[in-house]
Amino acid sequence: MMSQQPPTQAKVLIVGAGPSGLTTAVSLIKHGIAVQDIVIIDSVLQGENTSRAVVLHAATLEALESIGCVDGLNSSGLHMQRMRLQGGNGSTIITNDLSSLQPYTKFPYACVISQAHTEIELHRELETLGGHVFRPLKAVGMKPVENGLQVSFEADQTITAQYVIAADGARSVVHTLSRWYLLRRPDGLDKDESTDPRTSQIILADVSFDSNLEHIFPTDPYVGSLSICSDGIFLIAPLAHPKAKSTVYDATEPIYRIGFSVPLDKGEAPSHPGIEVLQSYVGAQGPMVISSDPSRNPGKPVHLKQVYWSTRFRTHSAIADIFFKRIRGDTEEENGGIVMLVGDAAHIHSPIGGQGMNLAIRDAVGLGAIVAKHIQSTDANINSNLQTLQDFAQERHGKALKQIAMTKRFTRLVSSLMNPWSIGYWALYVLGNIPFFRRMLVWQLSGLGNR
Ligand SMILES: Cc1cc2nc3c(=O)[nH]c(=O)nc-3n(C[C@H](O)[C@H](O)[C@H](O)COP(=O)(O)OP(=O)(O)OC[C@H]3O[C@@H](n4cnc5c(N)ncnc54)[C@H](O)[C@@H]3O)c2cc1C
Repeated sequence: MMSQQPPTQAKVLIVGAGPSGLTTAVSLIKHGIAVQDIVIIDSVLQGENTSRAVVLHAATLEALESIGCVDGLNSSGLHMQRMRLQGGNGSTIITNDLSSLQPYTKFPYACVISQAHTEIELHRELETLGGHVFRPLKAVGMKPVENGLQVSFEADQTITAQYVIAADGARSVVHTLSRWYLLRRPDGLDKDESTDPRTSQIILADVSFDSNLEHIFPTDPYVGSLSICSDGIFLIAPLAHPKAKSTVYDATEPIYRIGFSVPLDKGEAPSHPGIEVLQSYVGAQGPMVISSDPSRNPGKPVHLKQVYWSTRFRTHSAIADIFFKRIRGDTEEENGGIVMLVGDAAHIHSPIGGQGMNLAIRDAVGLGAIVAKHIQSTDANINSNLQTLQDFAQERHGKALKQIAMTKRFTRLVSSLMNPWSIGYWALYVLGNIPFFRRMLVWQLSGLGNR
């Protein structure tokens, strides 16, 4: 239930309280904007709080640290030191050792934590600072008025703000309402991965097994595995473990994130696959050590025990032309305001490499800082220093393009590993033995080169 009525005026209105919106709000406050000048709203009654992203990379942990939000997350997550990339026959192609990041960051690992938990922690931080998310308020309209942009909601309410932050996700309404913003396939980057019939349909699930898998996928030191065979890719990684004091879903058992591609020629997979569907894919595409088939796994057949969360989706990439716009009306009085896009409202891409939420959070930390600076330096006149906002938006646009290009490279790499007769497959086998190549891969995934 909505506990409070939102004000009708604000300096900054943040539309959407996912990771981007929550982080922007916290960052604004930490950079000196009074909490009563910020309104954050969301269309749903409760945070979506679904698992989705499960990794916070080093650069994201650093960004969260800069706004005092890292401790709770870092101590609740598991620390991934190693990720194995395996061929279909179980042989290791590359082991990514994240400790190679040690000279460059105080977080030489990836923090494995469900997005649900990340959002809860960010929300807790916002409340500690005196902030509040007003819900359910679904933005449906926006127009320039005197001294701001008036955003209207389904519930027949309006809020006028000088700065509107579009943090409302991949189907952003604010983004659409701002016109001139086009979310489209990135120019200059080759074909969209959504057309690859082998890797564009993905299932993710958080599950438990009926056997102890700790000796295969330990949490300390942490080891996860991505195996690639001609049928597709299969990821398995510990998500939470009661012994490591990392729990999700209030479970008293170890939970694993599994993820795999479903080739399009097998038809559309169910949107929330149940245990039977998941079990059949684990059997067909998963590593032999977790197969339930005694002929594949004679040691001890393993079965799924419980499905805590599952989803199926199609991957694709898109990016808005620009992330900043000064919007004015037709008359002099309608001097309007500023719209800035952040997170999925600005860019989306394949989850390969676990980068979407990470870039979104880093965007948002920087956005909070730059908007705060703009408010403080321009006093009441939002038209001065617009260049600083534009420069920031342009810089983040460049980083998003770089990230999309990286996820496409990873997708190509994965696709080549699906064919053991391809040149790419053997090139990777060779490159995987070169320490510099392995370190470069880890560096790219960490986000440290694209903060
Ligand atoms: C299945 C799946 C798996 C993923 N896996 C990974 C991964 O492994 N690693 C990774 O880094 N990323 C991953 N991502 C991407 C990650 O989830 C997103 O990048 C991240 O959620 C973006 O955060 P956001 O706040 O920008 O958008 P969202 O999380 O989409 O939040 C948008 C918020 O806006 C609200 N909203 C929407 N419309 C309106 C409106 N009109 N009015 C008011 N409020 C509105 C919504 O209710 C929501 O709370 C995955 C995504 C999916 C779908």
